Amino acid sequence: MDRREFLKCSVAAVLGLGFPFLLPATGEAAFSGAGGPTIYKRSLHFNSYAKRSSTDSIVIHHTGLSVDKDSTVQEIHRLHQQENGWAGIGYHYLIHKNGKIDQGRAPEQVGAHAWKHNGNTIGICVAGNFNLARPTASQINSLNALVAWLCMQYRLNPTRKDTILGHCDLNSTDCPGKHLYSLLGNVRRYCREFD
Ligand SMILES: [Zn+2]
Repeated sequence: MDRREFLKCSVAAVLGLGFPFLLPATGEAAFSGAGGPTIYKRSLHFNSYAKRSSTDSIVIHHTGLSVDKDSTVQEIHRLHQQENGWAGIGYHYLIHKNGKIDQGRAPEQVGAHAWKHNGNTIGICVAGNFNLARPTASQINSLNALVAWLCMQYRLNPTRKDTILGHCDLNSTDCPGKHLYSLLGNVRRYCREFD
């Protein structure tokens, strides 16, 4: 890919178009924003679509199932759509145990992850139960890279107290689990240095 083509893809990714310039054998499409991590885009059908009017905070979640395990984006999509009756998966991103980042909702879409705060926030879910276990090093690396990149894309100041939040900062929940929540200070520091 030449530089011009790369820039074109980067701009497409930044605009949330998810321009697929890598097509691995499994049929998944991946894209990277300029200076951002690789994000895998899955083909998911959403029942409705509403555009988010502003982006002020990034909210971190865990899947929080009864056992600490990985989940596919399709599993969560099915659960949120069929069990909860939502438009589809509520999170914008899912970070797997191996650090791979999947896109859930389109970045510009209103999420369903933090009650009363979906209109101006992005939701990132880290797969696992972090009351029972610790996130993997790969998950932390990907979380740092993704949050730092989102701060750049949306011009968010990572030093502000309400920019990078745990779900429990907004709603009555123990999400994202004590072992992940205790690491959010490190994520903020990483983003500050990256900025
Ligand atoms: Zn949550």
